[in-house]
Amino acid sequence: MESKIEIVFATGNPHKLQEINDISKNSEIKFILPPEGFDPDENGSTFEENSYIKAKTAAMLSGKMSLADDSGLCVEALSGAPGIHSARYAPTASARIDKLLSNLAEVSNRKAKFVCAMTLVDEFGNVLDREIGECYGEITEKPAGKNGFGYDPIFKPDGYDCTIAELSENLKNKISHRSNALNKIISYIKTNLV
Ligand code: IMP
Repeated sequence: MESKIEIVFATGNPHKLQEINDISKNSEIKFILPPEGFDPDENGSTFEENSYIKAKTAAMLSGKMSLADDSGLCVEALSGAPGIHSARYAPTASARIDKLLSNLAEVSNRKAKFVCAMTLVDEFGNVLDREIGECYGEITEKPAGKNGFGYDPIFKPDGYDCTIAELSENLKNKISHRSNALNKIISYIKTNLV
């Protein structure tokens, strides 16, 4: 059996690792979690900066090529909030959804996008590739669906009549900001590193 290239995926979120490995299942790459002690200081001011901080931290800790994403939800009527603060907008996933819906009460412009910045670094932390993926849609009036994570229950992607949390994982992985960015990273790896 062919051996796969192992790349550390700089996350503490097992759901994200699962998504990344599902999206890349037909490639020659396998993503693994960083070693224990991975605790980057995400103090950048953009998705791109934070993804670089996470990738470099993982490479320094593991001594291996590492990929990181930094992602979030940007709502047009809230001037792009919660943006890079998506994970910390409120203490729990359901509190974050409640806060967003209440900030959008009475607001008719519900346009939003998920954004994912990815940075691939070598084992020394040098940048090999950077990519951005986006997924456009709108914020629903109330949550629906049980799949996915985070803001998926209140995000209706353009072209669909349901939230991402009502789509199969397979379908989410075809249209998501994360798959969009990852497919570009995989192309880079296939062209330059395999
Ligand atoms: P990160 O782990 O620092 O990139 O934080 C991203 C945060 O943005 C997550 O905790 C979620 O709240 C939100 N987010 C990012 N990607 C998704 C997604 O695919 N679905 C729903 N929420 C997401």
